[in-house]
Amino acid sequence: MPDASRAPLERASGRLEVRNVSKSFVVNGAPVEALRDMSLDVAAGEFVVLLGPSGCGKSTLLRLIAGLDRDFRGTISQDGEAIAGTSLERGIVFQEPRLFPWATVAQNIALGLKNAPLSERAKRESIAAHISLVGLDGFAEAYPHQLSGGMAQRVAIARGLVNRPRLLLLDEPFGALDALTRARLQLELQRIWAHEKVTMILVTHDVDEAVLLGDRVLVLAPRPGRISHVFKVGAARPRARSDDDLIRIRNELLRALGDDEAGAGSEAAVPGNPA
Ligand code: ADP
Repeated sequence: MPDASRAPLERASGRLEVRNVSKSFVVNGAPVEALRDMSLDVAAGEFVVLLGPSGCGKSTLLRLIAGLDRDFRGTISQDGEAIAGTSLERGIVFQEPRLFPWATVAQNIALGLKNAPLSERAKRESIAAHISLVGLDGFAEAYPHQLSGGMAQRVAIARGLVNRPRLLLLDEPFGALDALTRARLQLELQRIWAHEKVTMILVTHDVDEAVLLGDRVLVLAPRPGRISHVFKVGAARPRARSDDDLIRIRNELLRALGDDEAGAGSEAAVPGNPA
C-alpha cells in the first residue's frame, strides 16, 4: 500500500466549463442527437460523475472534453481556455486498460510521458511515484499478461495521471472488472482523488459507484442526450457504502433514473417531442 503520509505529487486542479454543447451523429441517414444544449461547470478539485443508461451521451461528452472530437456546437473550456484538441492537461482512462503487451508496467506508464517537457531523471521519478500512488510497488518490471484486470486498470490510472494533468477523465474505468475488484478500485480511486486533489469526471451507469465517489452526480437521459437531474452528495469523506446519507441519495437516484425511463417511453410514442 502507498504511504498515505507521503506528500501529494505536485499538481494543480482544473476548472471546466461546458456551454450549450450539442452534438449529432448521422446513423443510417437519420440524425441522432447525442447531446442537446448541454451546459455544466466543474469546480477545481471537484469529483463529478456522469450517470445514465447506455446511449445517453456520456462517452460522447467525455470525448469532447478530452479534445478527441472537435466536431460539435457550443464551447468547452478548461481554466478559461477553449479546448482545441488533446492536451497533457487532461488525462483519460478507458474501460479497457489499453496497455501495450510488449511493454512493462513502467514502460507503459512512460508512454504517457512521451511528449512531456521533463528530464529523463524527472520522468523516472514521476513513473516510480505514480506506480506507488496506485499501489503497484514491486510491479514496475511486470508485463501486462502477468497482471490481473484490476492491476492493469491501476496501471491505466497511473498512466492517466503521470503527466500531472489538471483533469482526469474516466470512462467506465471499472466496467469490465468483477464486483469485488471493482469495489476495491472504487475505494482506491477515492483515496487517490483525496490525496492528489486532481479534478475528476467519471462516466458510469453504476448508481452505487456514482454516490460513493461523486461530489455531484449528473444524471443524463437519452434522445436527446441531456442532463435530467443533478444530485449533490454532501456525505463526509472517506465514504463507506453503508453510510446512511449514501443509501438515501442512492434511492433518490434510482427513482430519478426510473422517472427518466418512464418519460423516455412516452417520448418514444411521440416522435420529435422535445424534452
Ligand atoms: P453512452 O456513453 O451514454 O452510452 P454515447 O455517448 O456512446 O452514450 O452515445 C450517445 C448516442 O450517440 C447513441 O445514440 C449512440 O448510438 C450515438 N453515437 C455515439 N457515437 C457514435 C458514432 N461514432 N457514430 C454514430 N453514432 C454514435
